[in-house]
Amino acid sequence: MDLGLRDVPVLVAAASRGIGREVARQFLLEGARVAIFARDEAAVQEAADALAAETGGEVHAFSADVTDAAELERVYRAAVAAIGAPGVLVNNAGGPPAAPHDELGDAAWMAAFELTLLSVVRLTRLALPAMRQAGGGRIVNISSVSVRQPLDNMMLSNSLRLGVAGWAKTLADEVAADGILVNTVCPGWTATDRVAQLLEARGAALGSDPAELRKAIESRIPLGRLAAPAEIAAAVLFLASRAASYITGTQLLVDGGYARAL
Ligand code: NAD
Repeated sequence: MDLGLRDVPVLVAAASRGIGREVARQFLLEGARVAIFARDEAAVQEAADALAAETGGEVHAFSADVTDAAELERVYRAAVAAIGAPGVLVNNAGGPPAAPHDELGDAAWMAAFELTLLSVVRLTRLALPAMRQAGGGRIVNISSVSVRQPLDNMMLSNSLRLGVAGWAKTLADEVAADGILVNTVCPGWTATDRVAQLLEARGAALGSDPAELRKAIESRIPLGRLAAPAEIAAAVLFLASRAASYITGTQLLVDGGYARAL
């Protein structure tokens, strides 16, 4: 199937590794013109170099922290200069830290709000004027299965992802007449560095082997394994593609059947 992404300018946030990087890789394989950014300048440049070498595609790397409004504006302008105004924006960021309620003060809540919700609002605000002028665009947010089923010890994610859900659905209504489609991909457990770190931390806290913890998680996933980042990225590309021209305001779970919700 031709996804209709050739030469489309695509901006992928938080893409030096994990799901974001794989999303960028798949857009490149479709012939899109891609700009990526992440906090660590060396890491994001290394990712871009590896992606360009592998795919032969056009990818530009920038460094910015999604929690910093001025940096987001700078990186958005730089991306426009490099690839043109994005026709597709993929909102992504690192996940907020795992912690229970009693360990979370106001500073942790405010930091998670800026990381998980406000970053998405700010980046979208930057991208919308050019999408409106172009007569359309696609916004795809990376969220979490926690919008349907809370994850243990993930108080910040379980709370703030629902803010993204409400924002995305409301925005989808507001920009539909402009031809802009807004959708959200909700990964379940996915084999990335983030999950390896979470399992290490949980193992250390519980005195358990992270490999055993992973097996316990896999036993609760109907498909019996973690997702590969490529399986999450495929859903993002679909929602950004011409094949998804009548889909807006949805949350697409890519969780191997994990969520216990209808
Ligand atoms: P990851 O930690 O492997 O990669 C995160 C990327 O974001 C990296 O490139 C990192 O440099 C970048 N980043 C982090 N904080 C940033 C910041 N403040 N500014 C700019 N860049 C920043 O994570 P992942 O597993 O790919 O997860 C991506 C998103 O999907 C996260 O929000 C995560 O919570 C969510 N998610 C992941 C899983 C999973 O199982 N991996 C499941 C559900 C949801």
